[in-house]
Amino acid sequence: MIELLRGYCLEFGLELSELQLRQFNRYYELLLEWNEKINLTAITAPNEVALKHFVDSLSVAQLLPFSNTSTVPKKNISAFSFQLSALNYSSLSLIDVGTGAGFPGIPLKILFPSLKLTLLDSLNKRLKFLQAVVTELALSDVALVHGRAEEIGRSSNHRECYDVATARAVARLNVLCELCLPFVKKQGLFIAQKGAAAADELLEAGRAIALLGGELAQNISVKLPGLDDSRALIAIRKIKPTPSAYPRQAGTPERKPL
Ligand code: SAM
Repeated sequence: MIELLRGYCLEFGLELSELQLRQFNRYYELLLEWNEKINLTAITAPNEVALKHFVDSLSVAQLLPFSNTSTVPKKNISAFSFQLSALNYSSLSLIDVGTGAGFPGIPLKILFPSLKLTLLDSLNKRLKFLQAVVTELALSDVALVHGRAEEIGRSSNHRECYDVATARAVARLNVLCELCLPFVKKQGLFIAQKGAAAADELLEAGRAIALLGGELAQNISVKLPGLDDSRALIAIRKIKPTPSAYPRQAGTPERKPL
């Protein structure tokens, strides 16, 4: 895993430290171990986990709104190498909604150790796995929240409290906007990782984005080393508070998308 990941990351323009590579390796071991007991992922081969889970999650880093923006390129991550020491990311708070086995939240935390990370999922057994990962990898400043985004997004401890919300493989974009935008502070970002249907989903989500106080900030394509499938990162900026009627009660966003 270590050499595979090192190679993929270098191709992608990211140079991980030995400590980060060891943390990813331990994360992989725990993923395989716990996958025997609870359903975490269908992808288990080391090359696939390295690329489709780890590097794919790390691709979100290129859109994170660091305060020292001049050092963070906004185009394709593969066009540069991160100068991690130069980045001022220590105060960035991020909630990963429907994190499952920790994607993209945990890889981003390994990349940026000072990130204030919250992992949210409605399945408690996945959070137990994530607690083991946080402990074994000695990650600090990680909160694990069990619940549905529709409920947690109404609580004052979480509503409009985060610089960034992320989501990968949770729902279509119009549904996701209702689940994720309530968490985001004004001027913060919701970043959705999407596949081949990104453009269609974006068209479909226009009304939801506006109703929930957002506007499209960026839509960029992502190319992972050696893969031809189409991936995109859609970043939505919060420009107005989300009206108090949203999110609607659990299940409604999915049943009746805005
Ligand atoms: N983001 C991870 C990834 O990319 O591998 C997990 C994807 S998994 C297909 C979707 C996850 O979202 C599941 O763990 C599920 O429990 C969680 N989920 C779905 N709807 C949710 C909701 N309304 N609130 C919180 N978690 C939710």
